[in-house]
Amino acid sequence: MDSQDNPIHTSGQLFIVATPIGNLADMTYRAIETLKNVDWIAAEDTRVSGRLLEYYDIKTAMFACHDHNEAKVAEGMLERLQAGESGALISDAGTPLINDPGYRLVRKIRQAGLSVVPIPGACSPITALCASGLATDQFTYMGFLARSGRTRTLQLQAVADAEHTCVFLESPKRIVKTLQHLASVVGSKEICIGRELTKLHEEFVSGSVSEVIAHFDEHAPRGEMVVMVGVSQVVEEITDEMILIEAKKEIYTTLSPSARARTVAQKLNVKRSRVYDVLMAGL
Ligand code: SAM
Repeated sequence: MDSQDNPIHTSGQLFIVATPIGNLADMTYRAIETLKNVDWIAAEDTRVSGRLLEYYDIKTAMFACHDHNEAKVAEGMLERLQAGESGALISDAGTPLINDPGYRLVRKIRQAGLSVVPIPGACSPITALCASGLATDQFTYMGFLARSGRTRTLQLQAVADAEHTCVFLESPKRIVKTLQHLASVVGSKEICIGRELTKLHEEFVSGSVSEVIAHFDEHAPRGEMVVMVGVSQVVEEITDEMILIEAKKEIYTTLSPSARARTVAQKLNVKRSRVYDVLMAGL
């Protein structure tokens, strides 16, 4: 072990331990050892985490720490840490505090002068982003968008205006409605949805917003998902049929074939010679 490495078990510390987001094998060695060695584990839902602990034969005592009791149990946790115990916080899946409880607890423990040690691992927005093919040098993570109202409108506008990738979480029940809202503001930006990551039916659906809506028309949205909106516009491939439809428009009928090819080529951003060939073959 490098001297810089954090020791696995030190008294008076709270460990923030990431757990898998689907595939149980995505548990780090350090996460397992930490959960085995601490005096107690505070879990978002003890029934959900019970299955993980059983899988890894972790026998440490567990109690619940969720949004509704966090403030209350935090006091007890602080006292136990001050008395020299060590503890771990886990959520149902992924990295605690990332749209999961724990922020108030971590703040309280740090303000009391005790150390909070992160044990990194799975995190759905990062897992989705790294395989999306969208720009990753800068991104905004937005958690779950507001369900309605002015905040939602402002959030969607921020996604439309962003010059970097935007990442947010959405449920399968609301995804189509959200994509429809998105379509009305983001135009042809490229999006990618990471679904059921690390699980049997893992899937990445990419394309323009309307293409992704069409995908979900055919395959009903299911499972957990992360939505990513990229910066680049989707470049629609111009087919010969599209060239012909454009060239046959009445506005061009007074032009010579060569002038018509030049004008249509400029409009569709394709080579003039290609338009000319299509024109000669199809008119
Ligand atoms: N803390 C968690 C993390 O680090 O991934 C996120 C917790 S948040 C309450 C749960 C949401 O995360 C889900 O509704 C979904 O949007 C996303 N999520 C969690 N697991 C996922 C997975 N395996 N595939 C895709 N999205 C996932």
